[in-house]
Amino acid sequence: MSKKQSPVNYYRITLQWGIFVLLIYMLIRPLLDTSYSPDFEAYCPFGGMQSLASYFSVHSLACSMTTVQIALGITLILAVVLFSKLFCSYLCPIGTFTEWMGALGRKAKMQITLKGNTDRLLRISKYVLLFITFYFTVTSSELFCRKFDPFYAGFTGFSGDVVLWYAIPAMVLTIVGSFFIRHFWCKYLCPLGAITNIAVYAFPAATITLLWVLLTNVAGLIIPWPWLLGTLCVMAYVFEATTLKFFIFPSLRVTRNDDLCTHCRICDKKCPMAIQISTVETVDHIDCHLCVDCIVKCPEKGALTINKRNLSWLPAVATVILTAAAITIATYYELPTISENWGDINGKNVQVVRMDGLKNIKCFGSSRSFANHMKEIPGIVGVETFVKHHSVVVYFDKTIIGEEAVKEAIFSPLSELLNFKGKVTGKVSFVKLGIDRCFDPNDQFYLGELLRKDKGIYALSTRFGEPVQATIYYDSSLTDENNIRKAISLESLIMGEGKDQTSVKTGFAVNEAGITRGEMPASEFLSMFIPTTDVAFNNYESYAEDKMFVYELPFKQAADPEMQKWMPFLVSHASNDDGIVRIQTSFTESGPVIKIWFVDSMTTVEKINSVLNSPEFLIHYPDKSVKRIKNPFKFLI
Ligand code: SF4
Ligand code: SF4
Repeated sequence: MSKKQSPVNYYRITLQWGIFVLLIYMLIRPLLDTSYSPDFEAYCPFGGMQSLASYFSVHSLACSMTTVQIALGITLILAVVLFSKLFCSYLCPIGTFTEWMGALGRKAKMQITLKGNTDRLLRISKYVLLFITFYFTVTSSELFCRKFDPFYAGFTGFSGDVVLWYAIPAMVLTIVGSFFIRHFWCKYLCPLGAITNIAVYAFPAATITLLWVLLTNVAGLIIPWPWLLGTLCVMAYVFEATTLKFFIFPSLRVTRNDDLCTHCRICDKKCPMAIQISTVETVDHIDCHLCVDCIVKCPEKGALTINKRNLSWLPAVATVILTAAAITIATYYELPTISENWGDINGKNVQVVRMDGLKNIKCFGSSRSFANHMKEIPGIVGVETFVKHHSVVVYFDKTIIGEEAVKEAIFSPLSELLNFKGKVTGKVSFVKLGIDRCFDPNDQFYLGELLRKDKGIYALSTRFGEPVQATIYYDSSLTDENNIRKAISLESLIMGEGKDQTSVKTGFAVNEAGITRGEMPASEFLSMFIPTTDVAFNNYESYAEDKMFVYELPFKQAADPEMQKWMPFLVSHASNDDGIVRIQTSFTESGPVIKIWFVDSMTTVEKINSVLNSPEFLIHYPDKSVKRIKNPFKFLI
């Protein structure tokens, strides 16, 4: 018998390390490229399967899942039926990590393999987790697995949707469990492992599913989908626990040639799933994921093969081809995250608008709020959103609303103060210009942040147009139009500081058509950007106009955006004087003013002055409680 040259399973190690190198690259790239934000779920087949279930039951994809994850999920199932549990064996980062933990445990001679009833009983846990995860994902369209998934928690640093009370125990169980117990996560906890096992029992699983479809769609019975999922889980668990083999897949199996086998039992020891290979002719154990470690490590050439042929390369090659095919197909076809219509989208007057590059369409939640907004627009009859390309498709009845008006309804105008520090008299300069690639609310925010870096720029407002029409307000003694153009044309925006610093590619362009420039009184600018106060109280309506007087004072702080939050406190405090019945602020050519309406038979200007400049405000709360706060204002009396 000729001996094998190498006991190393290069097929598997290459793919497993390839995944880890990719993940490490995703982790460290943001340190070098602050505009890059890693998506550790971009290729998660489990998320894709949950999302597909969500799509069939409520016509929406979960979270930020796209066709890529769905295609990988479907491919994973196909791979189980055609080949084996290839994802588990060659790609799953948790599987690889727990295997490394297991190797450490074995080295320390502290690892056991659970057997008998304990093993059988614990195997039910992964089906319970699968049921819970699918149930909550489909009913909420949010990926429930994110709350506890050790992979997601580990790579996001326990941030995002992670729930610490779920994720920390799951992480500890995965690490400690895998150290002490052989393949603890894969055998007992992994919900994806539970799905792949259901696929291994593809024939009974398909029969149960077909029966459910017939009963619900043909016989008209109402059997909610959780009953189908529950039945599939119970079926797979019973088969797994009782080692029943009933038309089981996959079609590729490890086979042992007893004539060549020397019964050295190396394969039994080397099998990561602790399968007793040396006692069977064909390995049809539910835990086998065709890693081919046994074949590679068997010292007798030809004693172990796949389907009695030298095909040990096939699982790894199939893994690469299937994964590449799934990703390629998914790039050509994208399922909508939301597909909703509340009118007849096939009507003869219905037309379609598609808009791309809407960065705020990034998940199920943002798609949902977009659809809700569109429902309020008369004439719009349906929407589809595609989060991968940040696109929307809007169906509208052209007899009710035009294409331009639909685009305007999609547009969210912005009105934002940037560096305004309380200029209250004189003139404010402005320039109105069209800006390309600035339709999305995120882009308008980034534009505002670019402009904010110039301390002479007061504010930005946008309105719909193609290109988007922006008005930039500035102090001509501090900056000018050239600086504004330079700020707009910057290629990227740096936000945050230190380790929180990120960079965003911007790429806005000023459209030279129809630029207008001018000046406006500061009072007009203030009226556009800063809210005024006008509150009546103390039975204001009961007094005739000629019984009331107005006491007007300059009030510069009315133009300070930071002071706006204190205005309700001023009103509450002033109401302690029964003679004060109304407070107004306004912006005039000579500066901001406060007008205090009072009844002269009940109070006096002196009393009002002492109310306004009292060291403390006495505030009344809706629950009738009263509190004192320091007077935040200063009145020039
Ligand atoms: S199949 Fe190979 S490794 Fe397993 S017992 Fe036989 S000779 Fe040993
Ligand atoms: S039986 Fe062989 S192929 Fe299957 S899991 Fe064990 S070592 Fe891997």
